Amino acid sequence: MAGKNEIKKTLSDVAAGKILYDEPMSNHTSLAVGGKADALVFIKNEDQLLEVVKKLKEKKVIFLPVGNLTNIIIRDGGYRGAILLMTGMKKISYEYTPESGYLVTAQAGAALAKVVNMSVSDELTGLEFCAGIPGTVGGAVWMNAGAYGKEMKDVIKAISLMDAEGEIRTMNSEEISFSYRKTSLPPDTVILAAQFKLKKGEREKIKKKINEILQWRQKKHPLEFPNAGSIFKNLPMQIAGKLIEDMGMKGMSAGGAQISPRHANFIVNRGSATASDVLELIALIQSRAEKEKGVKLETEVVIVGED
Ligand SMILES: Cc1cc2nc3c(=O)[nH]c(=O)nc-3n(C[C@H](O)[C@H](O)[C@H](O)COP(=O)(O)OP(=O)(O)OC[C@H]3O[C@@H](n4cnc5c(N)ncnc54)[C@H](O)[C@@H]3O)c2cc1C
Repeated sequence: MAGKNEIKKTLSDVAAGKILYDEPMSNHTSLAVGGKADALVFIKNEDQLLEVVKKLKEKKVIFLPVGNLTNIIIRDGGYRGAILLMTGMKKISYEYTPESGYLVTAQAGAALAKVVNMSVSDELTGLEFCAGIPGTVGGAVWMNAGAYGKEMKDVIKAISLMDAEGEIRTMNSEEISFSYRKTSLPPDTVILAAQFKLKKGEREKIKKKINEILQWRQKKHPLEFPNAGSIFKNLPMQIAGKLIEDMGMKGMSAGGAQISPRHANFIVNRGSATASDVLELIALIQSRAEKEKGVKLETEVVIVGED
């Protein structure tokens, strides 16, 4: 495995672009926890991404593409390798053809919120369920993000990606198997862009739906503290938050992390939490769920990095 100095040397001559070495990921994750990444590379465009990935692969440096880091916990020991922050690739465009209908194409680093806003301006319906999901297009596709009975799979027509061999190609939605907060895309895939198929709608109706969702989220979610959204996946017949609440775990703390008193499936950072504090609460919830309820709670958040 390449060491820090080798990673630095490998990336030293990539075309411009900001790179931070030994960067505390707590500065970037929505939970505000996480150790240092050997390198955090700010990807600006596809050419730079290709160059960076090629070099990293040549030197066998592990890498991880990320979006807004709203669904990820990086352990306190940090990430040995390069984290590729995709938020610089954020173009969004819209086209209509009689054959394909209304298509919105967004690069992986575009904020979902921007795509939702644009669809309102263009009077397109279909993406309302994404209102208030704070991630990027790439993160949402990777996670098959969803809410209110809809998921990304319902609106994706195609994605473009860089595969493990560094080849760029397009995959139609039917070629991808989407499941609950998961896709069949192999590791080492970098999502470059997604194309959404939408329908013409009425601006006021679309806006009303979005406002209802945002108000509901504001009321239910503890947005006043750093968090990563729902920590656990719901079970087929049980809502994870309700199960945790029924075990009397709301408000429990470990260090600076707390099971939100407002929403039991949210763990919030009360100011000084570490990733270990959050992981301690996750382990405690899982072990009590197994003992007291006989169920295995699986995390929805992605957990990476060294202990
Ligand atoms: C307040 C709050 C509310 C939320 N509500 C919801 C909700 O209702 N529904 C829901 O599904 N989620 C929700 N989330 C979780 C999260 O916002 C979504 O999962 C979001 O889609 C993650 O996007 P991201 O850009 O932040 O991804 P990240 O957290 O940066 O990454 C998540 C995963 O995607 C991978 N990834 C990211 N970009 C790429 C790329 N370009 N190519 C390949 N892999 C990539 C990463 O490697 C990682 O495995 C919520 C989070 C918060 C904080």
